[in-house]
Amino acid sequence: MPPTLPDATRIHLPLGAGTIAATVHQNGPPRPTFLNVHDDEDTSVAAGLANLAEFGGRLIELTHSGERLIRFALAGGEYQFDPNRMFSEAGIAATLVRHSHYTEAAHAAIRSFAAAYLERFALASEPVLIALHNTTIGPFSVASFAPGGDLAADAAAVHQASRHSPFDFFYVTEPAHFARLREQDWNVVLQDNGRVRDDGSLSVFCARRGIPYLNVEAEMGRRSVQIAMLRAVRELLGGEGPRVG
Ligand SMILES: [Zn+2]
Repeated sequence: MPPTLPDATRIHLPLGAGTIAATVHQNGPPRPTFLNVHDDEDTSVAAGLANLAEFGGRLIELTHSGERLIRFALAGGEYQFDPNRMFSEAGIAATLVRHSHYTEAAHAAIRSFAAAYLERFALASEPVLIALHNTTIGPFSVASFAPGGDLAADAAAVHQASRHSPFDFFYVTEPAHFARLREQDWNVVLQDNGRVRDDGSLSVFCARRGIPYLNVEAEMGRRSVQIAMLRAVRELLGGEGPRVG
C-alpha cells in the first residue's frame, strides 16, 4: 500500500479582485519545500507527493483553473500571466504583454500576489527550493540550453545523457548539484547565474537571493521517471533513506 499523506491545507492569496489558492501538502517537518506553479503540470505534483510520502517535507501548489496561466479580474479588466514570470519587475511586465495586455494596475496586482506568495511561505528563507514542472514534446528540452540552442545564453554548462529523453532534465543553479547529477548521467543544465536573462522566473529570483534551486522537468505523464529524478534530488541533498515510523 502506498504511504498516505496528511490532509492538505488551502491558503487563499489575494490577486486583483479575487484570490488564488495555494494548496499545501506537508508530511513531518516542512523541509525541503517543493513548488508547483503551473496548475496543468499534474504529473510533477503526483511525483512530488510520492516523494513527500516517502521522505517528508512540504509541497505547495497553486490551484486555480487547471491551466498553466493565472487569470484574474481587476477594475473591470481581465488579465492573465505566467506565474513563473512573476518574480521580477521585468518578468511581470513581459508576461502581461505576452499573455494579456499591460496596465500599471495589473502589474501592481501581480507584484503584490508574488510578494504574498513568497512571504506567506517564507520562501526566501528556505535553504533550497525544488521546482516541479512538466514538459511536453516540442521545442523546449535540455537541448534548448546546449550550444546553438535558443536558451544557450542562460546556461553555464549542459550535460546531455543519451540514456534519457531530452524532455526529462534538471535545471539547477549550484555547480555542485550540476556536477553530481552529471556524474549520475542525468540530463542537467547549470544556469549561468551572472548572465541569465531576467525573465522573472523563480530560478533567476533564487540566483539573485543566493538560494540553491533545483528544477525537475519531466515529460507530462512520465510519473515514474519524475519519481526517480526526485529520489536523485533527495540523495543529493543528503536526505536519502525513508523516514522511520
Ligand atoms: Zn511548468
